Amino acid sequence: MTDLRRRTKIVATLGPASDPPLVLDALLRAGVNVVRLNFSHGDPSEQIARATAVRESAARLGLEVGILVDLPGPKIRIGTFAEGRVELHAGDRFDLIARADAPPGDATEVAVSYLGLPNDVGSGDVLLLDDGLVQLRVMSVEGDRIITTILNEGVLSDRKGLNKQGGGLSLGALTPRDHELIAVAVEMRADFIAVSFCRNADDMNEARRLIQQNGGFAAVVAKIERAEATSNLAEIVDASDVVMVARGDLGVEIGDAELPGIQKRIIREALAQNKVVITATQMLQSMVESPIATRAEVLDVANAVIDGTDAVMLSAETAAGDYPVLAVETMARICLGAERQFGAEIDFGKAPRNLEYVDQAIAMATMFLSQHIGVSAIVAMTESGSTARFLSRFRTGTLIYAFCRYDYVRRQMLLMRDVFPIDYQQKGQTARQAARDSIRQLADAGFLKSGDRVTFTSGESMDMHGATNTLRLLQVGPDGWAQGLGDL
Ligand code: PEP
Repeated sequence: MTDLRRRTKIVATLGPASDPPLVLDALLRAGVNVVRLNFSHGDPSEQIARATAVRESAARLGLEVGILVDLPGPKIRIGTFAEGRVELHAGDRFDLIARADAPPGDATEVAVSYLGLPNDVGSGDVLLLDDGLVQLRVMSVEGDRIITTILNEGVLSDRKGLNKQGGGLSLGALTPRDHELIAVAVEMRADFIAVSFCRNADDMNEARRLIQQNGGFAAVVAKIERAEATSNLAEIVDASDVVMVARGDLGVEIGDAELPGIQKRIIREALAQNKVVITATQMLQSMVESPIATRAEVLDVANAVIDGTDAVMLSAETAAGDYPVLAVETMARICLGAERQFGAEIDFGKAPRNLEYVDQAIAMATMFLSQHIGVSAIVAMTESGSTARFLSRFRTGTLIYAFCRYDYVRRQMLLMRDVFPIDYQQKGQTARQAARDSIRQLADAGFLKSGDRVTFTSGESMDMHGATNTLRLLQVGPDGWAQGLGDL
């Protein structure tokens, strides 16, 4: 079992830096809950090999680790240069050519991968290359040629990304390549599949349909990284299981000044809709090259925890950095510190009144009681993970042990803050038997001790999804068995 005191979860991107088996083992031991396989890089066989290595390492270490496949999506890129790179000078003309057979570029022009780009831009638009390092102002469009003026000095090399400031590109989120990769991800038994550059709920519904068509169970992750996604945030969150604040591309499109406010809005919206949220990109960026995070990075991770994120993510830090294990250890330490210093006290006067489901109502009552009578833990019997998700949305900081017999559901719960999934075959048991056994198991493992109070949720029957309808107040007896609570 992972560190039981850290309640915010860690997602780590895998890459060449994490490939050596000893490094991968050390990353998982340091507390990675979910690994991210970025399908924008490498070919699928490389990522399939990584998924296998993660499963082998996790089994060896006795840990559960989730796998998140991140689809490339319609990332626009420039083509290659005859010389590999060019120097650009402010004020010079530079053309983008939207033609499949465009020749290698030079200091005056380069190809662009999205052939529809001339239809989506007009005079005055600003195009951002290489995460905004080079900026171009569109002067005019002539057929498949976009004529721009360079706004700043810079070096540009092969296949750098291109964004349009303020958004407004009509590209759909799921490319034909994404369709193929969804099949690969399902075959790989990915627990999460992330949709890059989604615009609206339709993009997310389409991804879910494709996953189901391929026979997969993966949770659907919406990466919020396009300006239009921020306008359609509520419907995207509604159509997704998880949302990611993908601050890299998002910051380029909407501008850095807007980013802090949007991050907080995305986290709030996810929690309001009982969905899970990951905060991503450049969280400990300096640790790609340095063993020590900057103070600003420490504050960034801690602030995401205080904002209420479920998980924080590492990208280049673990995939390509010099200190992948140290980066995870640093992140884990910062999360713990933030959780310890900013314990949550929920104002139930402001708790949501629009309860739609019985398990949601039980979760609300459980959290109210857990906070007011003081419990050491919540034990939830769950089939689909929804009770655990509803419980964890309140962010009270009370540990939630989610007992579940399905391995893919347990791995999806690994991303939920405060939730610790435990493998348990509850099928056929009465609620009373499940309460006694699960609490005994926690006491035997040293997670509960005699006298500890516990709130326990379950359904009447142990094998129905979404059937939680019961809340019990229990206490660990001197022999480790659960007993009824005496006086409050
Ligand atoms: C991002 O842009 O912040 C992000 C997470 O996506 P990627 O790493 O694929 O660019």
